[in-house]
Amino acid sequence: MGAGPGDPGLMTRRSLELIAAADAILYDRLIPPGALDGARPDTLLRYVGKEPGAAALTQEETNELLVELGRAGKRVVRLKGGDPFVFGRGGEEAEALAAAGVPFEVVPGVTAGVAAPAYAGIPVTHRDAASAVAFVTGHEDPDKDGSALDWDALGRFPGTLVFYMGIRRLPLIAERLLAAGREPGEAVAVVERGTHPGQRTVVDTLAGIAARVEAEEVRPPAITLVGAVAELRQTIAWLERRPLHGEVVAVTRARAQASGLAERLRELGAEVVETPAIRIQPRPVEGELRETIVRIDEYALVCFTSPNGVRLFFDALGGRDARALAGAVVAAIGPGTAAELSRRGIRADVVPERFVAEALVEALAPVEVEGRRVLVARAAEARSVLPDALRERGAEVDDVALYETVAEPLTEAQLAGLERATYVTFTSSSTVRFLVESGARPPAGARIVSIGPVTSATAEEQGLTVDVEAERHDIDGLVDALIADATSRRVPA
Ligand code: SAH
Repeated sequence: MGAGPGDPGLMTRRSLELIAAADAILYDRLIPPGALDGARPDTLLRYVGKEPGAAALTQEETNELLVELGRAGKRVVRLKGGDPFVFGRGGEEAEALAAAGVPFEVVPGVTAGVAAPAYAGIPVTHRDAASAVAFVTGHEDPDKDGSALDWDALGRFPGTLVFYMGIRRLPLIAERLLAAGREPGEAVAVVERGTHPGQRTVVDTLAGIAARVEAEEVRPPAITLVGAVAELRQTIAWLERRPLHGEVVAVTRARAQASGLAERLRELGAEVVETPAIRIQPRPVEGELRETIVRIDEYALVCFTSPNGVRLFFDALGGRDARALAGAVVAAIGPGTAAELSRRGIRADVVPERFVAEALVEALAPVEVEGRRVLVARAAEARSVLPDALRERGAEVDDVALYETVAEPLTEAQLAGLERATYVTFTSSSTVRFLVESGARPPAGARIVSIGPVTSATAEEQGLTVDVEAERHDIDGLVDALIADATSRRVPA
């Protein structure tokens, strides 16, 4: 199975299905981050890659292991970078399985030789510039007799040449191609870490590329592409033009909530490091919370202050559904909370224009609450602005915590990610407090982004200087503020 060139979004649907179903996964080094996240907790994960220098397993041992696991009736995924049949030795492994009579299927992947150029803005073929493309290994020793490569043929090849594995041999490759008659002025692009957040592209001529790559310290993995199509990058390059390209943005919210924000930031070109300082811990449905659920029909007004609150409220309802709220006015603090409600079949009656408790209090002014029961379904440590205001108006308020946000210590990898951040985002006071309490701190020089004044105040209390505060206090507002800041700081090209 191919895992694609590195961007997790380029994994195929079939690959994700089979990873989720696998009993065992034998994987290589160049697979996307998080590629194995969908595996079951009991799946055997075994690294069988070949680090340059230190072999984990020889090819023969890998073949034998595949046959052995297959014969034992296991569902086995053999996961490789890019495409398994393009310089992946997938052919040899399939031969071994065929010889042993073990059934298998082949799942192609997006190969680096096409994907890395594509992310660099280079089409490997083009009606006007290249009507053929050759995939070539740069691994063969060009000096040794009986090299698998026919340099004269490559010299004459009428189209794009794409070299895999050749970065250390680039000087020799360039020399051979020139000797075989390719034009010294022909364009060459070298794409390092293609489709990964740190992708870098160097373009020069065939005569100049070796010195250039040395000067710029290009490292493997890299694809070298020779051909006129490389010049199209001037027009087609897109990755580097995205507003957050080059930024490393730390997202501190709980993992369960982080994905929406992380996805938006990635789409804008940022590298996202998830540093969840907090975790959502549902309260058990007992005591006060149980009482509330039992008497849910008695409430005239139910207020939700977060999407998590909505989710956990419906979990707590047990067997009941949206009809439990049929008799109540339903209020949501913001659009995310309202969207979560609408997923459960409820259109919120009240959503304030600014997404803070004070604004919800204002928006609730026309709702009759005097002498009525009101439920505020919230996080444990929320501020009491909303319940206090409603009590003042004569409501009988039950202020019920559905969950707690608890500190989540950061892993070594997360701490290392945080160290590289150019922006650190805070979406609530608790993200600030828990991050700082866990002992982690935004690195010096990183810009601090806060979702609104309450979060900013907490950050300042904790000794952090807020550089950017969102005008709209929701995720979209935070992203807009971040883009505006990054754009204004960008040195004009
Ligand atoms: N089966 C893989 C190739 C394996 S050979 C595929 O189809 O992509 C390993 C070589 O692939 C590396 O030396 C490098 O030249 C290239 N490669 C793999 N991933 C890459 C990436 N993300 N960016 C640039 N080159 C990559």
